[in-house]
Parts: sequence; structure tokens; C-alpha cells
Amino acid sequence: MRAVDLIREKRDGQALAPEAIRWLIEAYTAGQVGDDQLAAFAMAVFFKGMEPAELTALVQAMMASGEVLDLSELPGTKVDKHSTGGVGDKVSLCLAPLVAACGVPVPMISGRGLGHTGGTLDKLGSIPGFRVDASEAEFIRWLQQHGAALIGQTAAIVPADRKLYALRDVTATVESIPLISASIMSKKLAEGIDGLVLDVKVGSGAFMKTEARATELAQTMIGIGQGMGKAVRALITDMDRVLGVAVGNASEAWEAIEVLRGGGPEDLVELTVELGAEMLLLGGVSTDLDGGRAALRGAIDSGRGFERMEQIVAAQGGDPAALGARDRLPMPAERVELKSDRAGFLQPTDTQEIGRAAMLLGAGRARSADVIDPAVGLMVHKKPGDAVEAGEPLVTLEFNDPKRGQEAAALLQGLLSVGDTPPPRAPLIRARLGG
Ligand code: URA
Repeated sequence: MRAVDLIREKRDGQALAPEAIRWLIEAYTAGQVGDDQLAAFAMAVFFKGMEPAELTALVQAMMASGEVLDLSELPGTKVDKHSTGGVGDKVSLCLAPLVAACGVPVPMISGRGLGHTGGTLDKLGSIPGFRVDASEAEFIRWLQQHGAALIGQTAAIVPADRKLYALRDVTATVESIPLISASIMSKKLAEGIDGLVLDVKVGSGAFMKTEARATELAQTMIGIGQGMGKAVRALITDMDRVLGVAVGNASEAWEAIEVLRGGGPEDLVELTVELGAEMLLLGGVSTDLDGGRAALRGAIDSGRGFERMEQIVAAQGGDPAALGARDRLPMPAERVELKSDRAGFLQPTDTQEIGRAAMLLGAGRARSADVIDPAVGLMVHKKPGDAVEAGEPLVTLEFNDPKRGQEAAALLQGLLSVGDTPPPRAPLIRARLGG
């Protein structure tokens, strides 16, 4: 086979045979087909899409490029959650111990943040000593002992995606539904899971800006998972606002810990419980969503979720005492409040730009090689539609470098506006799919 023929066929809108896709991904992973040809192929897919059979072949070929974990020896139905990425999304940190405490094993392999969105690994990395670079044997042992393990992607899992995602990033081919779906699902399916709950974000802070695109992405990923015999459900959730209050690594980790202690912002608790209820249903420990919600709230109220988090942190080399005192996590040197100069209602704000302001402070990466500062970020006190008094703080900037603080403050000042009438607000959970 020749890559140029496959690129031409795809460019002209033909469906490729599964063997052709398999060959292309194998040859690319082995370095026999170069970035130039894969970039052209990705652009052809961007414009022409993929048929379901092509997509299945792509996911299988990507999975087969590396190791696929075998968790079949572990008892229970293993269920993970994946979010397509948002601003302030720290759900994984409180969700994994809660779901594990309710009896469903959670093998969670997460990524680092890039651009305006944060990553679970960076948030976990703010807990002193916490290791996310486990071997497969350690991952399985932690999972066996505590019912949940949270680690980073190893080099051995889906190496084809590592190359292809980096290439898509620099060739404007990230925003393709088949390519995003194949990238996410190949990695999740290689974890050895039985079930998956997807949190597909929609709105100004998400990859998918419209509900129609988010629904298409969710349906495509559900189709891939179900086609491979996995139970997959998805929630479409609102990202026209920050989730919770904290945007920054240590502050987000702390906010997730507060949820485990029975506190935390209402929207974060709601989303954690809703995603968790879907996981308990897939894991077979509850028969309906209400039963799952009650079990999760019980795990919060009894402290079992918090205790499970202490065990997970200790097993993974972290300091469990850090879960008891905010100042044991990295702290910023300076804080500055941005206050409203009038009473009214906060108007719609571009959530992606809020994420970018946190990135300017050092909480995120503009490029994958950038080094983050776990101590810095934003506390976003008001969401679009909230009532505001004159002089009330809208956002607190937390930073170490005053120059970065000024840059981020200037960006935020141009974003935040208070008007006379509340704008309409969509519900946090916009839709449920795959049931
Ligand atoms: N996240 C991924 O893992 N892959 C994509 O292509 C987009 C988001």
C-alpha cells in the first residue's frame, strides 16, 4: 500500500477499507510513513469525515499500537469517567474515591492540561509526593487495594495517539469529531475498562461550542464504545461558566477535597453526584440513578469518600495530611480582588478567556513543554446571571509573579461586565445520552 493513494481516496470522499487504515497507523507508528503524509490524511478526514466502519478500524489500530491493559483478573465492573475538558473541572479528584467507596473500581488514566483547559494530573501533582508515573503492576496493585488509582498515561499506551495528537495540534486538525473520538476512545479502551461515562462539555469554555456538535461527539464516542462491547453513557454539561470556584491546580485540588468533606460549591457537588450515579449504574451496584445519587451522598456524609481519598493518596506516595490543611498545598504569594463597581447581574463571560487568564498567571500551559506553577490561579466568585452588589469581588487573582498578575487582571477586566438584567442560564446538565 502507498500512503499517497489512501490520502487521495480520503480527499475525494471515499471510505477506506479497515486494512488500509490499519496499515497506515502501523506504518506511521513505526516511522515508515512521515508526519507530512499523516498531516495530509488528518486534514482529509477533517473535511470528509469517516464512516463508522472506518472509525472502528482507526480506534482498533490506535489501541493496537501499544499495550492494552488486562484488568479481567480484578473483581467487579471497572468504570472510568472522561471529560472532554473545561475550566475549573476538578471532578475526577472527588469522583474516583467516592465511586470506589461505593463499590465500583475506577481505573483512571488522565492527562496534563493544555491551553485554557486544566488537566487532572496537574491538580494531583499539587499534592506533595503524589506519584502519577506508575508502572502497570503498581497501577493494578493500587486498584486492587483501594478500588481506584489515578495515574498519567504511560508511554506504552496508544503511542500512535501521542504522535498523532501532537501533529494535529500544529496542523489545525484537532477539531475533527472522528479524530477526537478516536483519540479519546483508543486511550480509554486501552485502560481495560468495562464501562465509561463521558462528560462532554459544551459552551464557550469547551472544545464543542454548540449543543449540536457536542451531541455529535458524544454519540460518536458512544457508538465506538458500544461497538466494542463496552457500556458507555454521556452527559452533555454546561461550560458557558466555570465549574465551581477555583481555577488553578492546588486550589482546584483543595476544592475537590472540600467536596469529600461535605462542602464545596453546589455545581461541583451536583456534577460529581450525577456522573457518579451513572458510573454506579454501569458498575451494577445501583439499579437506578436515584439509588446511585443516594449512595454517593451517603459516602460524602459518612466520610467514607474522604477516607478513601486518604488511602489513595497514601498508596500513591502522597502526604495524606495535605488533605487536612490548605496551607500544606502550594500557596500563592499574592492575592488581588477584582470588584464590581455597580450592582446588577454578571453578564455572559467567555469561559475560554477565563481559562486563558489562569494560564497567563502560570496555572496552565500555552505549549506542552511549559512548566506550570501549582500555587497560582483564580477564584471565580460569580457566574453569569448571578446578582452582584457594588463593591463585591467578582474574581480573586492568586499569583506569584506581579507582572503576570497585571496581565491577567487586564484580560479579566475586559471580560467581566455587570448589567441590569440577568442573562438566561442553561442547566448544568444539558442532556443524557446512551441510556
Ligand atoms: N483530548 C484527547 O485526548 N484527544 C483529542 O483529540 C482531543 C481531546
